[in-house]
Amino acid sequence: MDGSGTVHAPGIVDVEAGEIVWVGPADAAPPVDGITTNEVSGALMPGMVNTHAHTPMLLLRGAGEALPVDRWLREVMWPLERKLVSDDVHAGMLLGASELLANGITTSVEMYFYGEAVAQAAVAPGLRVLAAPPIIEDPQMAVFGGWQARLDEIGELSERWASEPRVEIGIGPHAPYSTSAACLEGVASLAKARDLLVHMHVSEQRWEEAAVREQTGRSAMELLESTGILDGRFLAAHCVWLSEAEIETFAAHKVAVAHCPCSNCKHASGVAPVEAMREAGISVGIATDGPASHHRLDLFEEMRMAIRLARVHHADSERLPADAVLRMVTAEAADAIGRPDLGRLQAGARADMLAISMSEPALHPILPKDDVVARIVWSGSPRSIDRVWVEGTEVVSEGKVLTVDRESAIAEATARAAALAN
Ligand SMILES: [Zn+2]
Repeated sequence: MDGSGTVHAPGIVDVEAGEIVWVGPADAAPPVDGITTNEVSGALMPGMVNTHAHTPMLLLRGAGEALPVDRWLREVMWPLERKLVSDDVHAGMLLGASELLANGITTSVEMYFYGEAVAQAAVAPGLRVLAAPPIIEDPQMAVFGGWQARLDEIGELSERWASEPRVEIGIGPHAPYSTSAACLEGVASLAKARDLLVHMHVSEQRWEEAAVREQTGRSAMELLESTGILDGRFLAAHCVWLSEAEIETFAAHKVAVAHCPCSNCKHASGVAPVEAMREAGISVGIATDGPASHHRLDLFEEMRMAIRLARVHHADSERLPADAVLRMVTAEAADAIGRPDLGRLQAGARADMLAISMSEPALHPILPKDDVVARIVWSGSPRSIDRVWVEGTEVVSEGKVLTVDRESAIAEATARAAALAN
């Protein structure tokens, strides 16, 4: 697949120093001397971009099952998360990075505490990460410091990681109901000064609007607009309950959206107006959310859930076609985070790729009339992933992550999860 969505069979991708330099049909490829050749017998496609996650929460996987989001956060998650130390986050992110890479996810947007640990544990096994440490103004989370101190830390973090190509730092004000106008103004000004992506939960559940109104006397959208936070790079997660007017406001500000279909189902949040947002010109990526909100970091499952929700919600089988959702985990997801150099196989893009093995029985039989893209979306799974490259470096081979000692990563995460639970 090149950037236009064309399938070349057979095709060739030339990579030099982590960058894709040529893509096209094999019979049109320019001759190149002195190169290493990798043959892929299945399908080579762009690495997937996960636009919203809290991967280190895998230490809390399963906690608070079946509680509504507000109680799940305040009664289960926050009391545990406030006890976290940096090494816990490192252990959770490292094991999670091996899960993400094995599942074909080469970039993940991570809203989590201890951004330094997140960045280190992501980049060590070769994952590309956009780490946006959260700011939550709730007395329970005061242990992490006030918003100004948090912003100072995030500014320093972005300076420290400025020269690492696989790490980008953003800012993660948690949600309009858990951050003040003063904090959001501070976020807007730091984001503008350093050109950082702001990543925030917006309109996930229905009760949030009334909560914001009670706290501020304004709607969440008025609050966001008035602080200037929408004027820079802004990625909103969930956006389940946006009105038509709010969708227009987001489109006017070039806000992008991370759609989390499985999490929205598990937490009974609702059905996000994905097609209306895309029709308004908003880039919508599909995302896993954290492994405590929905247990798996699997964008194949999310793609199918996105289609099912759109179709069953409108009782219309033509809603959200397979090629659209594949774009929403690759090129459109990359656009949503302001990285047009990711999520596509085209000259000038970073060489983040995955190979789907045709030895996976669920993909067969494949006949000449079959739509390969639709087959991958409907029948593909992490099990079908054979090889993965990030920045041109192979990190998964024969479905095994080459860069993480899985047994010791599981043991470390288990020990830390047990200590937290106690
Ligand atoms: Zn989230």
